Amino acid sequence: MLILPPAELAIRTPINNGPKNWGHARSARVERTLGVSAGISPRIISSMEPQEQSMPSRRDAATISSIDVRKPESWMHRWFLTIDVDWAPDEAIADTIDLLQSHGVASTWMITHETPLLSELRRASEVELGIHPNFNGLLEGHDTRGFSSASAVIENLVALVPEAKVVRSHSVAQSSPLLDLCAEHGLSHDVNMFIPSGSANICAPWKSWNGMTRVPYIWEDDVWCLYEATDQREITPLEIYTSYKGIVVINFHPIHVYLNTEKLERYESLRRIHQNGRELLKHRYEGYGTRNRLIDLLSMAVAS
Ligand SMILES: [Zn+2]
Repeated sequence: MLILPPAELAIRTPINNGPKNWGHARSARVERTLGVSAGISPRIISSMEPQEQSMPSRRDAATISSIDVRKPESWMHRWFLTIDVDWAPDEAIADTIDLLQSHGVASTWMITHETPLLSELRRASEVELGIHPNFNGLLEGHDTRGFSSASAVIENLVALVPEAKVVRSHSVAQSSPLLDLCAEHGLSHDVNMFIPSGSANICAPWKSWNGMTRVPYIWEDDVWCLYEATDQREITPLEIYTSYKGIVVINFHPIHVYLNTEKLERYESLRRIHQNGRELLKHRYEGYGTRNRLIDLLSMAVAS
């Protein structure tokens, strides 16, 4: 990837050409993170210039449960950032919390397990908690973690996150009975349908037969890595705002943000230390990876 020298980047990014009154003081933290964004390609930057008004604004970020299919204003011209916790170590979860809080962008977190950081997430005004049930053990007939049914898996997480309205399954496992079970447990929004941005489909939320709102999502950090090995090119989160017209739901994982994952081999090869945040940090990718993509998105949202 071509990288602009910092001086040229400073002239050409909308950060410097944007409105004078942002209504938000650009913090030293953001200044630092913008330095990281030097990895944006010149092509992407030039494509952003004439459409500056379509850049993601933190004011337009919303949580998934606020989507009402009968009210297009609740999702059109808005964007939604979701986080699948995926049993990440606390160091990685805290790192993503810190990034989102320092930029003031709303987010919906899909919780997998008990952690002291749940209380920190609950104190944050821009954060919504959902659940991320894992049905894989039941489907594969092993490692059921003591759960004898899908209902028990959901009940366990709903007990941990009783305020949850939103659900995405681990590995996006879904079926009609699972969807009905989610509705029976008080969940109102399902975010399991992944429709890759590179498919060129224009997505919108819809109502399910059981009253749940189904919200497609179009970008995910690890799936982006997988598509890199195919002939279907996925667009980056930043590009989505200049070339995508449907509902914008983007998903990140704290461990991929923490590792700055650029290819899944990095993540897979470190499985033995996935619960050791200090050790994982030694393996953070130093090039342009998942962490850079999130920081660039957040920085642009603050500056727009
Ligand atoms: Zn997952």
